[in-house]
Amino acid sequence: MALMTGDEYVASIRRIKMDIRLLGRRIGNPADDPMLRPSLNSVKATYDLAQEGGNEELMTAASHLTGRRINRFSHIHQGREDLVRKVKMQRLCGQRTASCFQRCVGMDALNALYSTTFEIDRARGTGYHANLLRFLEKVQEEDLTVDGAMTDPKGDRSLPPSAQADPDLYLRVVERRADGIVVRGAKAHQTGICNSHEVIVMPTIALDAADRDYAVSFAVPVDAKGLVMVIGRQSCDTRKLELSPLDLGNSEFGGVEALTIFDDVFVPAERVFMNGETEFAGMLVERFAGYHRQSYGGCKAGVGDVLIGAAALAADCNGAAKSSHVKDKLVEMIHLNETLYACGIACSAEGTRTEAGSYMIDLLLANVCKLNVTRFPYEIARLAEDIAGGLMVTAPSEKDLRDPEIGPYIEKYLKGVSSIPTEDRLRVLRLIENLTLGSAAVGYRTESLHGAGSPQAQRIMIARQGNLPLKKELAKRIAKLGRDR
Ligand code: SF4
Ligand code: FE
Repeated sequence: MALMTGDEYVASIRRIKMDIRLLGRRIGNPADDPMLRPSLNSVKATYDLAQEGGNEELMTAASHLTGRRINRFSHIHQGREDLVRKVKMQRLCGQRTASCFQRCVGMDALNALYSTTFEIDRARGTGYHANLLRFLEKVQEEDLTVDGAMTDPKGDRSLPPSAQADPDLYLRVVERRADGIVVRGAKAHQTGICNSHEVIVMPTIALDAADRDYAVSFAVPVDAKGLVMVIGRQSCDTRKLELSPLDLGNSEFGGVEALTIFDDVFVPAERVFMNGETEFAGMLVERFAGYHRQSYGGCKAGVGDVLIGAAALAADCNGAAKSSHVKDKLVEMIHLNETLYACGIACSAEGTRTEAGSYMIDLLLANVCKLNVTRFPYEIARLAEDIAGGLMVTAPSEKDLRDPEIGPYIEKYLKGVSSIPTEDRLRVLRLIENLTLGSAAVGYRTESLHGAGSPQAQRIMIARQGNLPLKKELAKRIAKLGRDR
């Protein structure tokens, strides 16, 4: 079975007995929980879209290991075309779900590990690449969703991992055995982990020799003993319990993040991809971050398309669509959104071959892509709110709209242009609210800022990759400095 249907995916997640904590409750599985189900639906869309006619080129690929058709989310990029198609696939998924569809982190972790394990083995004579290939083939053949866990809690940011007051503030190896390792620590902000079959863990920063126990990478199933997921509290999340789909704006899809605790989790030796090779920790972090910064040029542009569409619909409802300032704001939103996408495509088109034979994005352009993502969705959201008007945050609830006594007043007084039903207007405004202030705003706004690394991380990479010495030489040549004039 190289491709699962969406329903088969949901059934496969249902079979996993997880330890999920949410609002003080223990939940064994996300599939039947009303607060968690929309986020599961977003991942399900990555399976459904792969089955739909016309999407095969974007949503699937031929495995370079088996030659079989697999979901692109488990593919190792074999060329620049694969990198470009990845971004296009993410835009399509963003357009379809208007949320974070979560499956990209595993894809980016697999690709970062593919080249890094190859280079560790060559330098150190280890066997990590073979371990990864075995795991990769399982992921591809069983069409699994894999979470990629990088961000440690980090404690005191001025101290390296081993100097923290609590040594567990970065995930580490606490025991090395003949048959594997035991790890302890936590990973924060784990997007989609409760909708995943497996989780790949990676270090979060470049490490010195003193931090050997922290240079660890591996994969475990999400029901591994000692693994606990504590779901993050999101704004408007309990609206999902009100049984008023209209008030959700996007009742079908969503995202989810969890603080994930690894309380002395055992990892079999054949699932270890790095164990003490500190000099390669920075390489793995940089490559994973680079791929995930490319990803944002696709997914955020796709969600942006929905938000721009919703803003245009809101203008239609208000009778403002022909007003020149509204048209101008919509053009500005499109310009910003396409600039995000352009950088995602550009860093892919400029990709290069790694020593392992896979393809890596251009790191400078991927970081420019993500730095734009830390800014432009905020402006797009601001313009959407501007066009939507205040009713977006003051509109009465669906229950009042359905109330036989009050409903007719809402119908009457919240009507915009007469040809558009009041309910349609409210639905559009709730969607804009969801994307700019509600639960999807976690993915579209704050995740745009901090996901795949906060803005300063991109600035550091841009400073490193920007080649200022070359630029100075270019200027010197034109200005005829230090040479015959
Ligand atoms: Fe994928 Fe975007 Fe979500 Fe990251 S933020 S997992 S790139 S949809
Ligand atoms: Fe993300």
